[in-house]
Amino acid sequence: MANKVLIVEDERAIVEILKFNLNREGYETLEALDGETGLELGRTADPDLILLDVMLPKLGGFEICRRLRDEGSTVPILMLTAREEENDKVFGLEAGADDYITKPFSMRELLARVKANIRRRSLDGSERPASGELTLDEEHFVAAKGGVPVELTQKEFDLLRFLMQAPDRVFSREELMREVWNYDFFGDMRTVDVTVRRLREKIEDDPGKPRHILTKRGVGYYYAR
Ligand code: CA
Repeated sequence: MANKVLIVEDERAIVEILKFNLNREGYETLEALDGETGLELGRTADPDLILLDVMLPKLGGFEICRRLRDEGSTVPILMLTAREEENDKVFGLEAGADDYITKPFSMRELLARVKANIRRRSLDGSERPASGELTLDEEHFVAAKGGVPVELTQKEFDLLRFLMQAPDRVFSREELMREVWNYDFFGDMRTVDVTVRRLREKIEDDPGKPRHILTKRGVGYYYAR
């Protein structure tokens, strides 16, 4: 499936040239000519990368970036900054951008950055771990449900991540103690049950009828997408 790039840029001419070149390279493109639309599409259109201008009508690029990150989004964001504004690079990275490119940019350079950022994301595994509505931001230890961040303790996060990386595979309590808690000896298995229960309370719509963290009776637990 083609990777989808969201272009948030208010200069029509730049949007057109970006679209033309990205499409030619096989990317799907979406465009937003103002900040509010950009934020909305960033939330709902599930892009694989966002090209984000800094100066935008209605809502600036840094603010968009910050809000998406606050909501738990891990989409790669490549900021388009003005050459004379050295500070833009710092602000952008502080706001959670992955990379930046200064205007005027060479198209070849830009395409290379787009490719590298999408690739890096799929390599480091932070691309949504095939989880329906649940996503993990490994870097910031935040889980998000439908884009809304969920506060987890370190162990809850570790357990969820461990289960999510092997969907449908059942792990015994002993295995989970060893892998998630690093106990090679027999610890108290109730630790696993208690953590599973707390995790369900946080991420399941109905913790009594979980859809994601499931019990295989007499065996252990597994993650269902
Ligand atoms: Ca602009």
